Amino acid sequence: MKTIIEPFRIKSVEPIRQTTEAERAAILKQAGYNVFLIEAADILIDLLTDSGTSAMSTGQWAAMMRGDESYAGSESYYRLEKTVRHLTGFRHVIPTHQGRAAERILFSILCKPGLIVPNNSHFDTTRANIESTGAQAVDLPCAESADTQAKAPFKGNIDLEALDALLTREGSARVPLVMITVTNNTGGGQPVSLANLKQAHEISRRHGVPLYLDACRFAENAWFIREREAGYADWSPKQIAQKMFSLADGCTFSAKKDALANIGGLLCANDSRLAEQETNLLILTEGFPTYGGLAGRDLEAIAVGLEEVLDEDYLRYRIASTAYLGRHIADHGVPILEPPGGHAIYIDAARMLRHIPKHQFPGAALACALYRHAGIRGVEIGSVMFGAEARHELLRLAIPRRVYTQSHIDYVVEAILEVNERRNEIRGLEIIEQPRFLRHFSCRFQPVA
Ligand SMILES: *Cc1c(COP(=O)(O)O)cnc(C)c1O
Repeated sequence: MKTIIEPFRIKSVEPIRQTTEAERAAILKQAGYNVFLIEAADILIDLLTDSGTSAMSTGQWAAMMRGDESYAGSESYYRLEKTVRHLTGFRHVIPTHQGRAAERILFSILCKPGLIVPNNSHFDTTRANIESTGAQAVDLPCAESADTQAKAPFKGNIDLEALDALLTREGSARVPLVMITVTNNTGGGQPVSLANLKQAHEISRRHGVPLYLDACRFAENAWFIREREAGYADWSPKQIAQKMFSLADGCTFSAKKDALANIGGLLCANDSRLAEQETNLLILTEGFPTYGGLAGRDLEAIAVGLEEVLDEDYLRYRIASTAYLGRHIADHGVPILEPPGGHAIYIDAARMLRHIPKHQFPGAALACALYRHAGIRGVEIGSVMFGAEARHELLRLAIPRRVYTQSHIDYVVEAILEVNERRNEIRGLEIIEQPRFLRHFSCRFQPVA
């Protein structure tokens, strides 16, 4: 059989509400044309993020009932620790309330002014947590990633020559760790190959610098390796994931992504002295080391999610359904960042809306047009978010895990193609109110006359 189906049936449903185009026009105006300011109840299909938006399984809900809420030594913690050790091989497993808490603890121990942390591409919270220590976050994306239209298989790779040159120039005294983000979220949800990870591991080792994974989408990355890299077609996703983790000295992880949970994170390490410093900080701001700011039931949901996410049927469906959206719009003339990523499709809004200049925010204008036309919410990743540093003007459509069916996605495809046909009617935006930091969350716009 060729048809790839959702590998689950639905036990509990959450109604979504239709609105009229006139209602949505009024809601948009009220929200200052910023989709972050629209109430979720007024959204029909929400593709704002894949973070914390997964549907949990019967297995996860059942496990939550046995959550052990003991302050110290919770059984739920030991179940999670066992799962994570088996998957990653890391000796020390520290739970945190989400990924950025793991980042803050790690970087506040290892970083200080004058130090440099290289990464294939830092996620925004990763960069912010490094920079808040006074250290510098440097992106070293591979050359293929510059062209949104190139269909290379591993556009998430780190630039190995640039990494070696940086480590040779700065040495281990100035580079406390190397990070690699799998998949590369900022770079379009693109995967990193095992060959690239192996070489990054060798280079880091040669310079005496530990290598960490930002492992948020480790399972999606493992699936891409199996599909695209020679020699792994017969490996299970878990074996590939274990291989990926074996090349690293530790990881940060957001359980809101590939642990299919609604909250949670992990900080893992092999270095016992470092882990002791980390747990000391954890107690100060997150909680006792066997709960780390989470309820026992959250630890259970994460432990079960980490097993479920490596299921082959799940991963096949997950990656195919994202590609389905991407192919169906791209093959009908909507420019996307190619090839489709694991968790999201990124529309190249600057290419689609050539009549809207960068300073009138084509990505945000497209977000408004798609909401007004069909009640769908995506997020601008471009000049509103990054100002003058934006490399591209994108609209990201992130797919929550196990939440929407194929007919929902067909509706999204139809809506985007209709908006594309009338793209010349879309007007740019100007900002009329903005805060000093992270303006994309709360600024207000008006359409350009
Ligand atoms: C989401 C994410 C984080 C941060 O995790 P939170 O749980 O949102 O704090 C870090 N890195 C990457 C690549 C992410 O996608």
